Amino acid sequence: MDRGKDGNRDANGGLAEATASRLRFDSDEEAGEVEMEVEESPDAEGEEEQAAAEVIGSDKTSADYYFDSYSHFGIHEEMLKDIVRTKTYQNVITQSSFLIKDKIVLDVGAGTGILSLFCAKAGAKHVYAIECSQMADMANEIVKANGYSNVITVIKGKVEEIELPVPKVDVIISEWMGYFLLFENMLNTVLYARDKWLTDDGVVLPDRASLHLTAIEDAEYKEDKIEFWNNVYGFDMSCIKKQAMMEPLVDTVDANQIVTNCRLLKTMDISKMTPGDASFTVPFKLTAQRNDYIHALVAYFDVSFTKCHKLMGFSTGPRSKATHWKQTVLYLEDVITICEGETLTGSMTVAPNKNNPRDIDIKLKYSINGHRCQVSRTQFYKMR
Ligand code: SAH
Repeated sequence: MDRGKDGNRDANGGLAEATASRLRFDSDEEAGEVEMEVEESPDAEGEEEQAAAEVIGSDKTSADYYFDSYSHFGIHEEMLKDIVRTKTYQNVITQSSFLIKDKIVLDVGAGTGILSLFCAKAGAKHVYAIECSQMADMANEIVKANGYSNVITVIKGKVEEIELPVPKVDVIISEWMGYFLLFENMLNTVLYARDKWLTDDGVVLPDRASLHLTAIEDAEYKEDKIEFWNNVYGFDMSCIKKQAMMEPLVDTVDANQIVTNCRLLKTMDISKMTPGDASFTVPFKLTAQRNDYIHALVAYFDVSFTKCHKLMGFSTGPRSKATHWKQTVLYLEDVITICEGETLTGSMTVAPNKNNPRDIDIKLKYSINGHRCQVSRTQFYKMR
């Protein structure tokens, strides 16, 4: 998808070109079902094949990756190349080594092991790197190749199922954030690990995350993504339009599309919150900074590391340097005409989907009583 008008994607250091999207996560049984075993073959040809299979990742098919995208290197490449993300973690760890040095660290969802490596280099006493995807095997090799086997222990398995060799850890580090902050619901895994293993005065990195909202003019792209279905090669496919409207769009928004101020919706303290705090209803009030149309609301998040000497973190907002999370665009049924100083008020309800807690249900209520436009509506969205 290219919004095609802002050039953001090209200015983005190739982020947008990255192959895998950070959308899929293994659903246990299904991933289990497609698992295959490589048969031992006695003849030389068989041995060669097996050796080749080991090198190229062997028995994985596209079906495996569909349910377990984190086993493929592509998604890790995308995350590692997200400089804003990875550099912030590196800076936090190296510049706040007092948080890490001589500490026992738990890396929740270690992936390639990058955060564990940063911590080991910063002098951690020991790092436990938990990773449930096949990438755990690579993390193990990476740890060995870089000479950190005595400091980092990679544990392959789900945080919720593994046994940790130590009763408590001093630090939990994790990069758990999904699109719209909460998509994929990995936050629960971090909270689980915190409650089970973190010492009373332990530190969670990052420890604060907040969700923000603003409103944008987006006529051109709404036309391309939504109204498109009205007339497809002369056929009416507008039934798909309803579905397209319901799915928030993950994409980069240009800062000059922003029509209103940006409002903080919700802040979460990762060191204290409960899983229930990730379901909420919050009011908002967006004030127009110019006369314009509003086609969509845009959500984005910030994370911060408040335990560092100076506050560190990053924002995924449209005015900040782009990240692989981009922004989340929620199209409105109505095209709102707003005049400078007028307000669009409403509330947003966010909750994990009851059937699939990795998906998110969003309810948006909005109304405006302006000179040019009076609207009041409720819309439902589903991130999946
Ligand atoms: N820490 C790495 C990877 C972050 S992506 C980095 O910063 O680059 C999140 C990782 O968490 C993925 O590799 C995913 O497979 C893993 N993960 C998600 N839920 C998990 C769980 N419940 N137990 C163990 N690993 C999990």
